[in-house]
Amino acid sequence: MMIPVRCFTCGKVVSEHYEEFQARAQAGDEDPQKVLDDLGVNRHCCRRMMVSHADLVDVVSPYQ
Ligand SMILES: [Zn+2]
Repeated sequence: MMIPVRCFTCGKVVSEHYEEFQARAQAGDEDPQKVLDDLGVNRHCCRRMMVSHADLVDVVSPYQ
């Protein structure tokens, strides 16, 4: 599904950084750790939201 707007644990808004994180991390010339540092996603609870998210919205949406 879509990434949750806020971190489940601390409540920080994380969805605003997701597209940029995906674009920069998928490009391959930047380390995902450095991208998260650069975006200001510092807590490990917020970082796991970005790193572990599986974007299934395009797969699931035809079946609603
Ligand atoms: Zn958090």
